[in-house]
Amino acid sequence: MSKIGIKRSITVRWAVNTLGIVILILAAVSVLTLFMARNYYVNTAEQYLVSRLETVSGSLSRFTGESAYRAEVRNIVGQFSEKDRFELMAISDTGRVTLTSSGFQPSGWLDMTDYYSALESENGSASAELTLSSGEHVICYTLLLPGIAKEYSAMRIMTSLKNVDRQLGGIAVLLLCVSLVIVLLMLVSGFYFIKSIVIPLRQISETARGYADGDFSERIEKRSDDELGDLCDSINYMAGALENTEKVKNEFISSVSHELRTPLTAIKGWAETLCELGSDDKETFRKGMRVITGETERLSEMVEELLDFSRIEDGRLTLTKGTTDILAELGDAVLIYTERANQLGIDIEYFEPEMLPFVYGDASRLRQVFINIIDNAVKYSNPGGKVSIEAFSEKGEVIVLISDNGVGIKPEDLPKVKTKFYKADQTRRGSGIGLAVADEIIGMHGGNLMINSEPGKGTTVRISLPCMNGK
Ligand code: ADP
Repeated sequence: MSKIGIKRSITVRWAVNTLGIVILILAAVSVLTLFMARNYYVNTAEQYLVSRLETVSGSLSRFTGESAYRAEVRNIVGQFSEKDRFELMAISDTGRVTLTSSGFQPSGWLDMTDYYSALESENGSASAELTLSSGEHVICYTLLLPGIAKEYSAMRIMTSLKNVDRQLGGIAVLLLCVSLVIVLLMLVSGFYFIKSIVIPLRQISETARGYADGDFSERIEKRSDDELGDLCDSINYMAGALENTEKVKNEFISSVSHELRTPLTAIKGWAETLCELGSDDKETFRKGMRVITGETERLSEMVEELLDFSRIEDGRLTLTKGTTDILAELGDAVLIYTERANQLGIDIEYFEPEMLPFVYGDASRLRQVFINIIDNAVKYSNPGGKVSIEAFSEKGEVIVLISDNGVGIKPEDLPKVKTKFYKADQTRRGSGIGLAVADEIIGMHGGNLMINSEPGKGTTVRISLPCMNGK
């Protein structure tokens, strides 16, 4: 994704999801407020018109004689005290305006909707909002009178909605200003918020691209203690782990190459010597063949270990389990190593118990583990050193202890020696995967492999395996 791509998409998403919705809500609230305010003002005006006309009709109800009635209507309309704000009219039974409080007869056609509605309504009254020919908005209310005089069969009161419209205009401007301020504040805060996301994201993406190219030196600067800060931490942690893996992988390749080269040099050297050797030097011939066989064996052990490791890595390592006599497997491993250790001046002591419970496991894999651990004990011992091996059963488990008084492991290396490729001592031969394979195999048997060590004093490896039937 390009730099602009990130920025654009986050900004657009923010604009649509947040800003768009807020603008919609503001518009809806404004329209609703204006609608409710208009309703309120118009209703109030209408209430007032109703109360005024009711007072008028109340005072007219006292007159039953036609001429007195007419005189009173003329008097009420002519003397109407609120002429400047309202127009009071008398209407004939043909719907014609016969009297007005302003004294002027309406010129031209006059919309009489409220009058006709009043004629049809049950209570003889109706109101209507009308637009005059001058364009002015008005509200009218008509009340039908008892039919004492034909030319005064209804009273109508009318007032302008100019003030209401003006007030609504004011409210609309206020709502618009408030909405603009809210949108402006959102834009400013959104801009800073997006910037605070986009800039670190851009840095993260650039640094991650560097990691992809194999440069793990750079670390991302953590700017905030939030989710982005956590992401920076995770990426920095990942870079550290990748850098370490890269280093360990290079060391592994170099130590495996070295491991392969040593026996190959010996094999090549002896093969050349044997080629040039006369047929009567049988002693040298035998020695040479012994070296070639021994080194070839070492090579194939190494290749086996590497294959096992790759099987563990992709989950292909399977066990062929059966009733296993640990004593037999341990005895074999000790036997294989006794001569090799003796040649190096290392003494192997084996405290063989008379009996051990059986274990449900893969005999050859378990022997491989014992060989590996004894090999390590011999490898990391100095000439004159001693390797002691004992086995016993305890609380439903078979325990095998393999101890040496060799170089030991530093406390800081101890937790890592079981991890793949880890070599605490780079000067000794080995690929750094033996303990990782052994630990995995013991784990697959439901057992445990523990290492105790003190630098300069020696190392003890404790293998525990569950007995068959838990005995
Ligand atoms: P390697 O093939 O290098 O021996 P391992 O996985 O068997 O690999 O062991 C990992 C590391 O643990 C070794 O490189 C070594 O530093 C340390 N180690 C293992 N066993 C012993 C031991 N008995 N004494 C001292 N160090 C040991």
